Order: sequence, then structure tokens, then C-alpha cells
Amino acid sequence: MTTTKKKRNRYLKAMEVDVWTPRPVGASSLVEEDRASGIAHMGWKELETAVAKCTACPLHKSRTQTVFGIGNRKADLLVVGEAPGANEDKQGEPFVGRAGKLLNSMLQAINLSREQIYIANVLKSRPPNNRDPSPEEVAACIPFLWRQIELIKPKLILAVGRIAARYLLNTDESMGALRGREFTYGPAKTPLIITYHPAYLLRAPNEKRKAWEDLKRVAKFIGQLK
Ligand code: URA
Repeated sequence: MTTTKKKRNRYLKAMEVDVWTPRPVGASSLVEEDRASGIAHMGWKELETAVAKCTACPLHKSRTQTVFGIGNRKADLLVVGEAPGANEDKQGEPFVGRAGKLLNSMLQAINLSREQIYIANVLKSRPPNNRDPSPEEVAACIPFLWRQIELIKPKLILAVGRIAARYLLNTDESMGALRGREFTYGPAKTPLIITYHPAYLLRAPNEKRKAWEDLKRVAKFIGQLK
């Protein structure tokens, strides 16, 4: 954050005006804030390099490569997942494994291709054994996603799964409580829809009907943009 911005925020705080600053659950330190404000000014190229070289959390030791994100950088729709799995870690692209195939079908069902949209994850490095990202890992990594969102300026964000929803909205609510509601992300108030993660749908196919309801809302929203 620039000094002027910091000063302005201090005044606004003193006036008890709410200042929206994205902050992942669990993030706190000043070092993190400074790093995040550096990332917040990067262009695409710089951002890609910073992600590829990042050693801010221990996951850099176990990953094969980072998974930056893929698709149309001017997309209306941004899909946000959790973190790379084994296939994504190998190929350097998000959602290329079984869950990715299901995600592709879900998108095709509403006439969207991977090329039309942008796909990114909360974490750019794979957590070993597909465990949940830790709050510390998210705190280190999520400024990259924040910047991707600022650069893309999507008209709609689809958060797939509990982790994406949790960290984009700073909430601990369950998927059951979150699905079907209307949310916005960030100061631009970008509409945000939440649906089940395709990996969960592979384990719980009965929930696909609910995911279809969510996708219809996405289709309706995108349709209204035309
Ligand atoms: N699951 C995710 O959340 N993201 C991927 O890229 C792959 C699987």
C-alpha cells in the first residue's frame, strides 16, 4: 500500500468508516501486508514470474511447478478453485485431472469453454496428499489471486468448493449455508456465486442436481451480459 493510501485508510478508520481490505482468514503480519501491496501493483508478466519463483511458503519445496491459472484474461467469468492436485502439479495447468474433466462438462452444459473463461486457484502450489491448504499457505499465496482478479475484472466469480468460498468471502460458513445465496467480492462488488467443488461431486454425485441449479444461475447471469 502506498503511504498516501495508508494515511487515508488511517483517517477513514479514525472516522470509523469501513475500509475494505482483502485479508485471508488467519493473515496478520505487517510483512504479509507489505508483500501483498507489492503484488497488488504487478502486471501479468511480473505476476507470472513472481508466482513461478515464489518461496513464501514451504509448499515450494514439494511442488513440481506452480500452477498460475489459465484462460481468457478478459473473461466475463472467473472460476476459482482450491489448489493444484497431482495432475495439475505435473502439467502446470489448473483442473486437468478427473475433477477438471467434470468441471469442463459442467461448463459445457452452460455453453462455456475453458478458453472463454479464466480458471485460477487460491493456492498456486500443490499441498502434499491433497490436504486442505493451511491458513498460513493461503495468507502467503492469495495476494496473487487478488491481483489476478483485479487484472481480469470479471463480471462474475464462480467459487467452486468450501476453500475458495471461505477465502474469497472471509467466512467460515458451511457450503450448505453458502450455496444459493448472492454474494459480492471486493470493492468493485463483483457478483460471486458458490457451487460444489467437482472433486466433491465425484464423491457425492447426488449433489450434482444442486450444482446444476447453481450453473443455471451462472448461465442466466452471463446470458444477461449479452
Ligand atoms: N482442484 C482444484 O481446486 N483445483 C485444481 O486445479 C485441481 C483440482
